[in-house]
Amino acid sequence: VPELPEVETTARVLQATILGATIVDIDSIDWPRMLPNATVDVARALLTGRTVCSVGRRGKYLLIELLGDVWLVVHRKMSGNVLLLDPGADTPRHTHFRAVLDDGRSLVLEDARKFGRVHVFADGSTMREKIDRRLGPEPLTLDTRGVTRLLAGRSGRIKSLLLDQAVFAGVGNLYADEALWLARIHPLRAADSLSSAERGRLISSLRHVLEAAIGRRGTSLSDYVDALGQAGDNQNYLEAYGRDGQPCSRCGRSIQRIVVGQRGTWHCPRCQRPRPRSFPRTAVVAL
Ligand SMILES: [Zn+2]
Repeated sequence: VPELPEVETTARVLQATILGATIVDIDSIDWPRMLPNATVDVARALLTGRTVCSVGRRGKYLLIELLGDVWLVVHRKMSGNVLLLDPGADTPRHTHFRAVLDDGRSLVLEDARKFGRVHVFADGSTMREKIDRRLGPEPLTLDTRGVTRLLAGRSGRIKSLLLDQAVFAGVGNLYADEALWLARIHPLRAADSLSSAERGRLISSLRHVLEAAIGRRGTSLSDYVDALGQAGDNQNYLEAYGRDGQPCSRCGRSIQRIVVGQRGTWHCPRCQRPRPRSFPRTAVVAL
């Protein structure tokens, strides 16, 4: 599932490859819900003839800015990939959106599960307003004070809070588990029970795992590849996520899988101790 580092990697690849290219047509939209805020005709009228001037990211949204303050915004959800295809290359089977560029290349959203979405915006302020309404701050720019503000008065489980896009934009299941492992915080701790030292460890750990994953061009466990079709490398460096039964690299105890808010959650039962204000262990279904 693409999270912040995977979307950031895709944005950086596209920033280096499609600036100055002009969209000459869009097609392959075989699934009307792909375009939640426009018809195909409106999207075509808005995008055709526009030149790409920047590519960026906010949370898990890929933001492609076109000249004239027009924006093409892609959210890949569970398994979508944004691919830049060479001229004449075959369009992948599960393509649901394609933008043809003036140099013959094309940019496609390929998504077997059809959860991915393409939004178009006629101006940047509407785009930012829509997206900022859904998303909390970017974790890469948060400090201990920022995280203290975010956690204040929140008695929910820290793992679930990390997955809430309105609190920590761009964090998903994998990087939440990795950050909690690094910070030695149990996933069921009540968010407002963390000490100031723990809050500091949490944000520095979160930033560290995200930055390291960006440096390794993302995590490719099943579907994810970047815009040039290349897998990332971070799956070779995971400490907690998906490692049930394997030894913790810090203490040797077996990593354990529990379920928190219906999400598989991996932690070290020795390094990440529950504290009195944790939710009771019986509230969790162990698989
Ligand atoms: Zn451990």
